[in-house]
Amino acid sequence: MQGTYLNTIDGQLVGAENSFESFNPATGEVIGTAPVSSRAQVAAAIAAARAAQPGWAARPDAERKALMMQVAQVIKDNAPYLSEWITREQGKPLGGVGPDQVPGSRFELWGCEVWTQVSASLDLPMEIAFEDETRRDEIHRQPFGVVAAIAPWNWPLMIAIWQIIPSIRAGNTVVLKPSEYTTIGTLELIRLISAVLPKGVVNTVSGPGEVGSWLVGDPGIDKIMFTGSGPTGRKIAEAAARNMVPATMELGGNDAAIVLPDAVPQSIAMGLFWGAFLNMGQTCACAKRLYVHESIFDQTVEALKNIAQSVPMGNGMEAGTVMGPIQNKMQFDKVVALVESARQAGATIVCGGQPQGGPGYFYPLTLVTGLEDGARLVDEEQFGPVLPIIKYRNVDDAVASANRLDAGLGASVWSSDLEEAKRVAGRIQAGTVWINQHGMVHPMVPFGGIKGSGYGVEFGIDGLKSVTQPRVISIKK
Ligand code: NAD
Repeated sequence: MQGTYLNTIDGQLVGAENSFESFNPATGEVIGTAPVSSRAQVAAAIAAARAAQPGWAARPDAERKALMMQVAQVIKDNAPYLSEWITREQGKPLGGVGPDQVPGSRFELWGCEVWTQVSASLDLPMEIAFEDETRRDEIHRQPFGVVAAIAPWNWPLMIAIWQIIPSIRAGNTVVLKPSEYTTIGTLELIRLISAVLPKGVVNTVSGPGEVGSWLVGDPGIDKIMFTGSGPTGRKIAEAAARNMVPATMELGGNDAAIVLPDAVPQSIAMGLFWGAFLNMGQTCACAKRLYVHESIFDQTVEALKNIAQSVPMGNGMEAGTVMGPIQNKMQFDKVVALVESARQAGATIVCGGQPQGGPGYFYPLTLVTGLEDGARLVDEEQFGPVLPIIKYRNVDDAVASANRLDAGLGASVWSSDLEEAKRVAGRIQAGTVWINQHGMVHPMVPFGGIKGSGYGVEFGIDGLKSVTQPRVISIKK
């Protein structure tokens, strides 16, 4: 399986003088190498996207839609190949699609296909902002031009698709830089879909953060789509400000889930579990702090513990695996340090809490109780398979806890009383508050963070608008 995988620039496969290795987080083995794009190659990719953009935008809408449906078909046809790459490189199990399946790499590919189809089907027709007998004002949605897309490693292909597909649907062209931890699967995805797109419409560059900084800092970029951590987001926002270009910032979160006193622990436990541990907790909108009312605290912890201890963990390529490794050493070390700090603060480790030993970055699913707000494991985004469960007495305190951090991506409220749940949801500062589910994004529903979790939304009509700019034509009658 080892080999060298290449970038796509202007429809051509391109290597580079230098390359870097990609590792399987389940085994530690090298699985291939990818190019470290040079500064000149970043410029060439932007130039290719610039050259392709006017022609792409000028195509009739129906033609762009049809090409995007072909992209969806290519994704579907190549799902077995690409899902193996995700598992090998990112670590999540292959899993399957359907209610009783593990949401792993096959689920990610299915998500890529569906998001592409839905984006292809959306329209942004001209709107009339105002009309009377003296004037008529029309709003036409135009593409920005060239979009720089910077992707993270947790859902590498799906997030790249979320950035690319609405952008090209609206008539932009794209230069994408995948995460250096999950480059190969993404380069392969772009190589395959490029076969049905005009050259230059989607291009890639690869390598460390520095390559991303060349891309977002280039004056040839008209719009930035970034998904990743807060600190990197701030650097990218500075670059966007310097060039006066808009950016969509999907940053980290520290989602609170609040279980109200009338919830039934046994009924909600499975939803809570996946809300917290989807993709080993390495999901931006996972529940990362669980606040449970004291009256049902012990039953809720017990129900979650039973699930956590029954889940098989291992190499995601093997059938029956439900949880894989943590994706990289940096993330693994962070989880170890946060659990250690909780232990030292006198917390109870309900289950898990000790790394399994190599090879691979395996860490057991871990539940921690006995912590309060202010503890590192509560206040810092763990982005891994550990969940602090905090006891609360009254709902106002739980809402205050949910709102006290500079993060506002998602949150959830769990209750048998929908009206009460909605009242509580309305008081929580987050881009999305789910009720009796967590992290359930949908291609028609806008998704984005507030506060330190970023700005701008993706998905649906609002997401499509965010990769266009309004141009007004104002007519005197
Ligand atoms: P990261 O910020 O370390 O890296 C993200 C990407 O930015 C990588 O491709 C990296 O190479 C690139 N990069 C690094 N420095 C750069 C620079 N100066 N200029 C341009 N690009 C640069 O994030 P990560 O560790 O890959 O992802 C994990 C984080 O992402 C978590 O905090 C998670 O919550 C967040 N996340 C958010 C969402 C969301 O939709 N809000 C989704 C997934 C992940």
